[in-house]
Amino acid sequence: MELNICHLYPEVLNLYGDRGNIRCLEQRLAWRGIDCHVTMLKIGDQADLTKFDLFFVGGGQDFEQEVLLADLGSGKGGEIRAAIEDGKTFLAICGGYQMLGHYYETHEGVKCEYLGAVDFYTKGADVRMIDNYCFTLGQESGGSVVVGFENHSGKTWLGPDVQPLGRIIRGNGNNGEDGTEGCRYRNVFGTYSHGPVLPKNPQFADELLRTALIRKYGKADLAPLDDTVELSAHDAVYRRLMNRFEADERD
Ligand code: GLN
Repeated sequence: MELNICHLYPEVLNLYGDRGNIRCLEQRLAWRGIDCHVTMLKIGDQADLTKFDLFFVGGGQDFEQEVLLADLGSGKGGEIRAAIEDGKTFLAICGGYQMLGHYYETHEGVKCEYLGAVDFYTKGADVRMIDNYCFTLGQESGGSVVVGFENHSGKTWLGPDVQPLGRIIRGNGNNGEDGTEGCRYRNVFGTYSHGPVLPKNPQFADELLRTALIRKYGKADLAPLDDTVELSAHDAVYRRLMNRFEADERD
């Protein structure tokens, strides 16, 4: 078994060490004896996107998000849409997540027309949503609790037929108003969680690998791993977050 991973736009969409998510996926596959090849696809690079099983797109600042538009328009956008419809697995974070929707309009009124691969749009607000946060994944994404870090001014609004990736426990998520976080569409996992999010959320990491393996091989033989260290990091962040929010609520 092997998975081919495509890291899209690593030179512009890679805030807060988002790339660590790929390292995490590689390692969790290696521990199970599953091969993995990672290809970085930068602006201007051409590749046959049909050969990849899992795509990763990190976060970026408004300027970097604008820089991508020409490259998406040159044909890559259509290939990304086709890969999504073909059931390929995507982990898309913050600016990379926004890129999959219809558009992102900054607070200053600059509008980036994006892929419309998933039915949602994003509008910048005057206040940034910056903090650690946590949410519960929907049952179709495994149902575990994810701890993460968000930093965005964009408020994302999902269309009626798009499931959120999860429901907010503490923090803002998509817009700070409707309790939703991220999107789950086919095998697209969109989230505001920077990070890297996967090392401290091993169940979420395995959910991504599971969908990619099932899509490719019809089954996913993911032997259990000893996640004692990963889960203690997860639990420590979760406890700290809950204690702080409870203290804030008491004040
Ligand atoms: N520029 C976008 C926003 O602020 C995305 C930011 C990010 O990827 N961290 O909403």
